Amino acid sequence: MIIDFHTHLFPDFLAPKALGNLTQVLLENGGNLPQTAGILAQTQQELGENQLCYTDGTASGTIKKLDEWGVDKAVVLNIATNPKQQHNVNQFALSLLEPSAGQGRLIPFGSVHPESKTALNDIEVLAKAGIKGMKFHPEYQHFFANDPQMNPFYDLCAQLGLVVVFHAGFDAYSPELVHCTPAMGLEVKRRFPKLQIVMAHFGGMFCWQEVLDQLAGEDIWLDTAYCYSLLPRELALQIVKKHGSEHILFASDAPWQSSAHSMEMVESWGLTSWEQDRIFYHNAQELLRL
Ligand SMILES: [Zn+2]
Repeated sequence: MIIDFHTHLFPDFLAPKALGNLTQVLLENGGNLPQTAGILAQTQQELGENQLCYTDGTASGTIKKLDEWGVDKAVVLNIATNPKQQHNVNQFALSLLEPSAGQGRLIPFGSVHPESKTALNDIEVLAKAGIKGMKFHPEYQHFFANDPQMNPFYDLCAQLGLVVVFHAGFDAYSPELVHCTPAMGLEVKRRFPKLQIVMAHFGGMFCWQEVLDQLAGEDIWLDTAYCYSLLPRELALQIVKKHGSEHILFASDAPWQSSAHSMEMVESWGLTSWEQDRIFYHNAQELLRL
């Protein structure tokens, strides 16, 4: 059993445009950055010039790729980048709960924009409908993860038992300023001890020394999304050792990386099969009560 805790996809009619636009942003913002130029070039070498997507961005296309990669289920992280999108984004998330769309393979998370007046109400509606978590993207949604104004959202998610996934660390969209550092994630956890927090990108993209120093060992989840070929093996092993494989979730960030590559990375760490099982599916099963 393999569960990929971090994927993205879109409604069929929107997928080509969404992937095209996001690819463009990544190439323009990330192509010249020393942090990301290498991996973007590597991906294009594999997929073709100006190609950065390992799936076609649709539900059915992604499920086909999951089959190819040997992945059983995938968490789908949706993001409302403005208050107006929120309704449609969550309608799409809910549609993936239907067997006809998600085929029982997709686990959609909801998204609210902090500036939306209906955000708190919508979180309750989503939880009632069976959504298991919320994705917050402090870079695209323009807030700092530890901003006290976010407290009502975190408080409600904690009360409803909704998992909160943060994009954490560097993002090519806002390369100069990180809106969710490992320390900020920890601050939120201290404020809301019952809140289940997933810090994506192994606790914070390119903030891995801080993750090792400040987050490792805390009751916070780290996912492996977009770490393939970027997270140094030695540092990964130090973090796994201090943090424990019981708080690490296998994830790819498809379409931007493939589950196959992420699997290769986790397998290269040389962990015991018990530890690998925890990371590949057991932790996600428990966290999502599957
Ligand atoms: Zn992502």
